[in-house]
Amino acid sequence: MSLLVVGSVAFDEVETPFGKCDKMLGGSGSHFSISASYFTDVSLVAVVGGDFGPDEQKVFDDHGINTNDLERISEGQTFRWRGRYEYDLNVAHTLDTQLNVVADFKPKLSESAKQSRLVFLGNIQPDLQREVREQVPNAELVALDTMNLWIDITREALQRTIEVVDVMIINDAEARQLTGIPNLIKAAHKILSWGPRALVVKRGEYGAALVTSDTYFAIPAYPLESVFDPTGAGDTFAGGFMGYLASQEKLDDAAMRRAMIFGSVMASFNVEEFGTERVRRLTPAEINQRFSAFKPMKHSEEIPFRRKR
Ligand code: AMP
Repeated sequence: MSLLVVGSVAFDEVETPFGKCDKMLGGSGSHFSISASYFTDVSLVAVVGGDFGPDEQKVFDDHGINTNDLERISEGQTFRWRGRYEYDLNVAHTLDTQLNVVADFKPKLSESAKQSRLVFLGNIQPDLQREVREQVPNAELVALDTMNLWIDITREALQRTIEVVDVMIINDAEARQLTGIPNLIKAAHKILSWGPRALVVKRGEYGAALVTSDTYFAIPAYPLESVFDPTGAGDTFAGGFMGYLASQEKLDDAAMRRAMIFGSVMASFNVEEFGTERVRRLTPAEINQRFSAFKPMKHSEEIPFRRKR
């Protein structure tokens, strides 16, 4: 087993200034696994209700995502999230969250899932994330994502989970909220002092940074003229980042830097259409083309500065 993800599988209702969608497949586990499936074998641990039908299952099947550990509660309803974005697409406004079957979820990992080399603890309640982490003690790299809700209501549990992961993936506002430190670099170093060896700070349309205790690497977001729906961009980024790492033998700093670009590439496709629509029908050529487009964005000639007078 290569890459394991635990997260939410949801039906999302989303409104942006450019359109509205009443019911689409979403959730951290869905966005992540579809994105990562372009790079590696992915196994999804999550729970769904009786309203999760063959059409939704087909999306996972079409991407070769292993759903043996996707629990089905036929008499329950799938998790639902309703959100809205204003013109500042970096900020999601949660209008309603219905936990439904997630309220009693106890993640159970099959024996093969416990052998996963990489693990992504997607956005769900932090105690559940830690339960999964404890069932995969030999994983080579475990990454974690979260959201403002868990920082608000389960901060201590979240900190205990942060202590047992290798990489934390977080957005800038959450890093500030979690630490109470306004300066992003200081906030990042604070989180690193709790345990992770690397922090990925997502900054929406401004790109993302990889911070360790002694290095800093930043990339821009792919410059798009039209952004339609940012829902799931963070999870899609994480899917590209972790999926690419899972395809590599060495998980060193150089691999992490390339993974940052693949994360950004996948997220840039995600925002072009509603939900998972665009990422579902990508081709490897499209992914490679966008990866190559990052090179000139990061390059400039080294011309030494000379004093004018
Ligand atoms: P992102 O835009 O990548 O931060 O994630 C958006 C996804 O997170 C949506 O598809 C939602 O279904 C999902 N989501 C929203 N709130 C929660 C929550 N409390 N727990 C788990 N997933 C959630």
